[in-house]
Amino acid sequence: MKFIILDRDGVINVDSAQFIKSPDEWKAIPGSLDAIARLDQAGYRIVVATNQSGVGRGLFDMDTLNAINDKMVRLVAQAGGSIDAIFFCPHAADSTCECRKPKPGMFLQIAERFNIDLAGVPTVGDSLRDLQAGVAVGCTPYLVLTGKGTKTALSPDLPVGTKVFADLAEVADYLLSAK
Ligand SMILES: [Mg+2]
Ligand SMILES: [Zn+2]
Repeated sequence: MKFIILDRDGVINVDSAQFIKSPDEWKAIPGSLDAIARLDQAGYRIVVATNQSGVGRGLFDMDTLNAINDKMVRLVAQAGGSIDAIFFCPHAADSTCECRKPKPGMFLQIAERFNIDLAGVPTVGDSLRDLQAGVAVGCTPYLVLTGKGTKTALSPDLPVGTKVFADLAEVADYLLSAK
């Protein structure tokens, strides 16, 4: 079984500096839903790992976060795919929790939930912390240039071996091409 771990904001949906606080504010990046469907149909299990500090900051509550994620799951299903699980860190940015990326807590939860070794599992993010959290557990880092990606691409701290793609659709093209 192949796995892929995706950040949410800036990878699947358009990010906002004002946070995604309602289902209406959640808008898919063109091609991302189809990319998830193609990966799913090719045998990948899709797991989302997302920092959602807006909960900890009181900008939206858990019911709203669930409603936002439900919209994403519904739209992915309409595109012909499925998301196997969504892991999130609800804690504020100044929290000392173990789950907020760049800490690898969510990735360790994923490994435990699915009883898998994450070595070499592609993890896709638009922020440095997404890649750092994945690399800490042996994932292969994929940076997309959507969301904060173009800025992240300039970082001197980009993990060694980071693969860079325009967007999630290009990541899917790459993973699904014969190689
Ligand atoms: Mg992001
Ligand atoms: Zn957390």
